[in-house]
Amino acid sequence: MRTDDRVVAYGGGWLDRAAALRGDPGWLAERLSDPASVVLPLWRDRCLVDSARAPVRRPAVDAVELLAAADGTVFLGLDAGRAVFAADLSGLDGDEACALADAAEAVDVRALVGGLEPAEAAVQAYAKGLLHWHRGQRFCGACGAATVAGPGGQTRSCAGSGCGRLLFPRIEPAVIMLVEAPGEPGRCLLARHRGAAEDSWSTLAGFVEIGESLEDAVRREVSEEAGVAVGEVTYQGSQAWPFPAGLMVGFRATAVSTRVRVDGDEVVEARWFTRAELRDRVAAGRPLGRIDSIDRHLLRSWLDGRG
Ligand SMILES: [Zn+2]
Repeated sequence: MRTDDRVVAYGGGWLDRAAALRGDPGWLAERLSDPASVVLPLWRDRCLVDSARAPVRRPAVDAVELLAAADGTVFLGLDAGRAVFAADLSGLDGDEACALADAAEAVDVRALVGGLEPAEAAVQAYAKGLLHWHRGQRFCGACGAATVAGPGGQTRSCAGSGCGRLLFPRIEPAVIMLVEAPGEPGRCLLARHRGAAEDSWSTLAGFVEIGESLEDAVRREVSEEAGVAVGEVTYQGSQAWPFPAGLMVGFRATAVSTRVRVDGDEVVEARWFTRAELRDRVAAGRPLGRIDSIDRHLLRSWLDGRG
């Protein structure tokens, strides 16, 4: 079970990413023939797990057949000196992938995260995000020629003549914010999103657009989704969000007025909650944010504040 609730899910990874070494084909080949090295097989964005729902880790030297069948193998980093690779079995059907990996089933990391150590979830999420990026970048967006993975899998390059474009894994930043009302009593703004269950309230969030600062994105999203103008915006923390390639950046924002006017599209309802109301909800067994999301930390830190 997870032992440290202070770590934001998909963070706290233990890997040394060994940036100075990971592009060296000779060093990587040595790591693949090192009996201490391990391979994590994944299938179409899912973790391959054993019958106890533990992610499969195969010694690299025993995974020759698996590596040969993989669409790609990437180097993730060093775990206390032992190399960790991820292999993409997405080209196989699910039963073939499980058989080759000696896995019981393929499961989304979000379904596992409550039962994994944070660092284990972080590595699985990292593997998922990086392999997903490779699958989606097989052709050059500039000239249309095929691209090839660089050593270790942290880059791809276009093989088209006269192009040679170098591609790096893209991260899509999003902001997530706890909006606080001005003055007393302390209240925070939570929203019910389209498709969410009745009485399911969460913080506002949205993608950062080109040409925006993170603070600009916070103000725009709160204005668009809830019709609330925001003044001060303060950074709280961030979270890797590999679904498939996000980075969630968490903020506390202070509204300049309390009138709410939802967009009716993404957000169907939004209202202000006092700390007492949120504590009552927690006491009644209602979840305070998602188990794997930074919104839980934003809510908890606000709840632990004054009032
Ligand atoms: Zn190209």
